[in-house]
Amino acid sequence: MRIASFFSFWRLRAAAHRLPEPAHVPRPVLSSGPDMPKQDARHPSEAYSRLKVRFRDVGRMSGVIEALGRDFLTAMPEGAYKSRLGQISFLFRRMHEDLIDKSVYEDLEEAINHETSFPGQWDEWDRANLREMEALYLQFCHVAPELWEKKASMSYEGRRVHREVLAANDWEAAKDFLQEQIDLHKAIASARRSARPRSSGNDSGHDGEDRSLYQYLLEEHMPGMTVAEVERLFDGYEKEIEQIIPAVLERQKKSQPPVPLRGHFAPEAQLWINKALLKVIGFDFSRGGLYETGHNPVEGGTPDDTRLVIKTADSRNFLDSMKSTLHEGGHGLYIQGLPRKEWRYQPVAADLGAMVQESQALLVEMIIGRMPEFFAFLSPRLEGLFQGIGDPDLQAGNLYALKTHVQPTVDRKNADEVTYFQHVLVRFYLERDLIEGRLTLDDLPDAWAEKMQKYIGVVPKTPAEGCLQDVHWFVGKFGYFPAYALGHMMAAQIYQAMERDFPDIRSQVLRGRFDQISTWLREKIHSQGRLIHYNALLKDITGEELSWKPLLTHIQRRYLKLS
Ligand SMILES: [Zn+2]
Repeated sequence: MRIASFFSFWRLRAAAHRLPEPAHVPRPVLSSGPDMPKQDARHPSEAYSRLKVRFRDVGRMSGVIEALGRDFLTAMPEGAYKSRLGQISFLFRRMHEDLIDKSVYEDLEEAINHETSFPGQWDEWDRANLREMEALYLQFCHVAPELWEKKASMSYEGRRVHREVLAANDWEAAKDFLQEQIDLHKAIASARRSARPRSSGNDSGHDGEDRSLYQYLLEEHMPGMTVAEVERLFDGYEKEIEQIIPAVLERQKKSQPPVPLRGHFAPEAQLWINKALLKVIGFDFSRGGLYETGHNPVEGGTPDDTRLVIKTADSRNFLDSMKSTLHEGGHGLYIQGLPRKEWRYQPVAADLGAMVQESQALLVEMIIGRMPEFFAFLSPRLEGLFQGIGDPDLQAGNLYALKTHVQPTVDRKNADEVTYFQHVLVRFYLERDLIEGRLTLDDLPDAWAEKMQKYIGVVPKTPAEGCLQDVHWFVGKFGYFPAYALGHMMAAQIYQAMERDFPDIRSQVLRGRFDQISTWLREKIHSQGRLIHYNALLKDITGEELSWKPLLTHIQRRYLKLS
């Protein structure tokens, strides 16, 4: 028997030399048809048709990563932590390997030549889609897929590290991890810089292009935005708002302070009202849902699976979970309204980046969700839900006073609408210096305190109140913070245009009617995907490019009662 199995082993080894070749698998091609979604329709440029297949598959992979990410945050058993982290980061690397494959480069060149030679065969959506494909390729082509794999892994790990160091108020324990994040992002930014040759061919910077490392991180979150533009908008607004804050505080002193919330607000009841509000603003629950996590809220998802994640409700304060729901709901409306039927998975169907995302979130959360009319709509429903008919803390005027109370604080997440900008400004200066090597982590707590004193007039007493409070740097989001302030500016600008288009908007909010608002947003912004630059979009809607002036007007109207 032993001799027989010895020989059969050798037969097998010999057979290995004659292994059958794999069946020929033809590359998927698109076909043509009159009613076919653009995503699946064959284009006269064969190279572009091939690229559409490639990007559809990359988009599918990205959708799988999103779904795994939601699971990671909300449902996964603790024991799956390491393996799930490995699965997510592996898929992330695979996705980037697929994006920078040599055939993508060849097809892009061929398709771009076709577009130049036969412009009549390209409509505006196809042209925009090709432009976005090229932009994605340029973004990734010089960055090793291993770096993206590490970025994905550290981003999920960062949430856990942040939760632990924040709970322990342990800045020393945070530093090593943050340094690793900074080094990784500097490496990614330098690789991206090397993909873009200087247009003037020298290093003198005379071509006007900002080649600082921070610029490359900023534009990853906000395509088309420059550090110089952020500075211009921030400087302009800062000069005005620093004059206004003392006047707002002075005016506030003369009115009665709001009654704080009292009693117990059952988390299940909070979840119910939050879901009901999402339905009211037009969120589609057949393609999404609302979930809770023990940690920070998370934006994102796909148009077919938009699972909003907020922090677990606090039974002493329903306003926090509601604020978070409205914020994530604004993101959710944007994501669900993207052009999924025609262009699902294609780069042109993506959102316009963090600034426009935040504009949609802040429009719902801060601009509309803090109107007196909104609280007038809400108050009787809250009285019923929390069984507090006539309770002074649940009255519309009191809720409005609570949510518009201005109080300089060390805490960004609980900052009021007026001083919120300064929190962003402080983080913008600090993260830029950290990336550019002008500030070390050893010096960060002091620099943080100094800037807080200068811009907000308060100083954190502990690291947890200071540079440990935000999750952003722990998950590698350098260059994201400016999106909040820019998004706030954009939201105010969009709201002004909305008010021009339907002057009875406030009475609609009072009646809990948001259908006209959400239809308007979907038509003008959400369904446009990445068809045009954010400034072209704003110009179409408002007649002007991004400006801080409408935000200033909004703050003056709401907080100084100037019309
Ligand atoms: Zn947001």
